Amino acid sequence: MKFRVNENCIGCGLCASTCPAVFHMSEDGFAKAEEHDVAKENLRDAEEAMACCPVEAIEEKK
Ligand code: SF4
Repeated sequence: MKFRVNENCIGCGLCASTCPAVFHMSEDGFAKAEEHDVAKENLRDAEEAMACCPVEAIEEKK
């Protein structure tokens, strides 16, 4: 499973603190998701980050 951050991101930083293995803040101030498949042990945190994003900017990447 992979994730992507869409243009709704407001740069609050919540995803990066909830699941730093998958999300980080980039230089432009918005979040970026790792390109590669999320490791099993990080999936729960990544899904929590997706659920907690205040603007629903995190999507599953198909
Ligand atoms: S939680 Fe959502 S709005 Fe906040 S930085 Fe992450 S993707 Fe952006």
